Amino acid sequence: PQLANQIAAGEVVERPASVVKELIENSLDAGATRIHIEIDKGGAKRIAIRDNGCGIDKEQLSLALARHATSKIASLDDLEAIMSLGFRGEALASISSVSRLTLTSRPETQQEAWQAYAEGREMNVSLKPAAHPCGSTLEVLDLFYNTPARRKFLRTEKTEFAHIDEVIRRIALARFDVEFVLIHNGKTVRHYRVANNEKQKQQRLTAICGANFVSQAVHIDWQHDGLGIEGWVVSPDYAQNASETQYCYVNGRMMRDKLINHAIRQAYQEHIGQQQTPAYVLFLTVDPHQVDVNVHPAKHEVRFHQSRLVHDFIYQGIASALTPGET
Ligand code: ADP
Ligand code: MG
Repeated sequence: PQLANQIAAGEVVERPASVVKELIENSLDAGATRIHIEIDKGGAKRIAIRDNGCGIDKEQLSLALARHATSKIASLDDLEAIMSLGFRGEALASISSVSRLTLTSRPETQQEAWQAYAEGREMNVSLKPAAHPCGSTLEVLDLFYNTPARRKFLRTEKTEFAHIDEVIRRIALARFDVEFVLIHNGKTVRHYRVANNEKQKQQRLTAICGANFVSQAVHIDWQHDGLGIEGWVVSPDYAQNASETQYCYVNGRMMRDKLINHAIRQAYQEHIGQQQTPAYVLFLTVDPHQVDVNVHPAKHEVRFHQSRLVHDFIYQGIASALTPGET
């Protein structure tokens, strides 16, 4: 199983930032409202993520580290309309095959916490009692220690940390209801607090996208035929010196999708001009039955069942935000 897991890891775990992404997504799927991220040496040495989510029962701990073990999909119907961020049950098995991973957890229903650790070629899981508040901590030490070829591909500490910082930015942008703390080499470098009201939302948006973007952005909120688009686009008055902010989410998942990019570009070109680089933070909502996120493990692409409709919807939404009063 270790070899199979290492091969699968090649798809999911490219660098420390991909580990951080998978672990934070698990915390969010577990309903966490507070996520604490500790990084040492750009993540190559240590990544530790603590959450206040639902935790994992002692009986389920070994299973969580096994390949294709997911608690999130029970039937084919669920697969047709995925609501959680994870669903493949591959991340933990993959990560633990290329690092020293421990999983410590306590659900509310349990008095004590347990820690799981997978070892050796057979990836046998051993369990021992531990001290931990309700929730989970995933600790990943010495990433790629047993796959030297991959370890060699890691860049400088600074570069790897920059990738982690960006992953957290993307996630924090989509989850204003969750607190994120990021610590690097013992120093707190980011603290995104829960944003409930407009003022706090502006603060988080500023912390992530910069004051420049926020001061230039116009709000967009457009619904039609069960589709929705919400967020901010840089207005034509400012597009000259737009920042490089380009974030797009489909049902809460970050996407880099050709169809979406094309629609955005087209709206910008037709309403602002060829030269302008669009800057935006957009949240698209689509009936989960109408999208297929099951395209690639890195999960940055989607397939829309009615792609033409979605394209035109995005185009219209942005066009109307760029030219208020005309549509
Ligand atoms: P997936 O997210 O695709 O289900 P993972 O390998 O990422 O697969 O996780 C395996 C399982 O471990 C999850 O389905 C979930 O039941 C459990 N799990 C992982 N991380 C956490 C966490 N932070 N809190 C609670 N449960 C978790
Ligand atoms: Mg997962």
